[in-house]
Amino acid sequence: MAGAVNSSSDGSVAQNGINTIVQGWFSEMSPMWPGEAHSLKIEEIIFQGKSDYQDVIVFKSSTYGKVLVLDGVIQVTERDECAYQEMITHLPLCSIPNPRKVLVIGGGDGGVLREVARHTSVEQIDLCEIDSMVVEVSKKYFPSLAVGFEDPRVNLHIGDGVAFLKSVTEGTYDAVIVDSSDPIGPAEELFKKPFFELVARALRPGGVVCTQAESIWLHMHIIEDIVKNCRQIFKGSVNYAWTTVPTYPSGVIGFMLCSTEGPAVDFRHPVNPIDAQESQCDRPLKFYNSEIHSAAFCLPSFARKVIESSSK
Ligand code: SAM
Repeated sequence: MAGAVNSSSDGSVAQNGINTIVQGWFSEMSPMWPGEAHSLKIEEIIFQGKSDYQDVIVFKSSTYGKVLVLDGVIQVTERDECAYQEMITHLPLCSIPNPRKVLVIGGGDGGVLREVARHTSVEQIDLCEIDSMVVEVSKKYFPSLAVGFEDPRVNLHIGDGVAFLKSVTEGTYDAVIVDSSDPIGPAEELFKKPFFELVARALRPGGVVCTQAESIWLHMHIIEDIVKNCRQIFKGSVNYAWTTVPTYPSGVIGFMLCSTEGPAVDFRHPVNPIDAQESQCDRPLKFYNSEIHSAAFCLPSFARKVIESSSK
């Protein structure tokens, strides 16, 4: 793995000139959430590296287990990752009967793979992650997530998700899950219209996509643009859902759930309840259930107003 990011003798670590680790605390500062920063107390810094794409840090926190940080932004903590991985996976896959072919863009920690693998109807899981260091670090330090890579249905592709989609045969997938970092850095293109057009092309009629779609408290301007683009591209349905993840900025994260023209998809009422399959599983779901699936689409008025009025 490449050399460490620069850290000074007092143990502080700066990324983009901003001290993110000071006196034993990690603070998540970003121009994407100006004026605020969530901090976690550090027990031990386990890994620091710099790949071709981003700075990578793993530390053991006092209260959230191990934490994966990319370019100063929290991606995963052992304590609350279940909320994000389970919701971004089961909201789409429980909304269509018998998903068979699934594509994950990003998701190099393996957590979404772990959740997709719960669906016994799935025959093929392709994952395209741009940064091999994230996969290596997850396999070494986050075995409860990287277990996803062990499923024989998984095909791992290291590369850019945009380029991968351009190589995909039209109508290949039942579902695409975009588990990307934020639109600063390598994931910038994954929030733009051409990318969504490639996703729609890769989906079968009535196929579904679920993307990481930021925070209604912080990013309504980004969400509004994404909704406008999706309404132009996805002629089935366009929906926004959200959930709570304590260590994501503002404590929430959203998801765009869209379907292509074809068999109707009612995202709000799961037709493929995974709860039933859960009884045979040795690793029960910690967060997702059919009730929280439907509730995820209930939005506060300020968000509903923007999302429902976007490009109508
Ligand atoms: N749960 C996190 C969140 O909501 O921010 C995302 C976790 S996952 C680690 C995000 C992954 O997206 C990273 O491993 C990053 O390397 C990958 N990624 C970013 N841009 C990408 C691109 N253009 N193609 C493929 N993977 C990309």
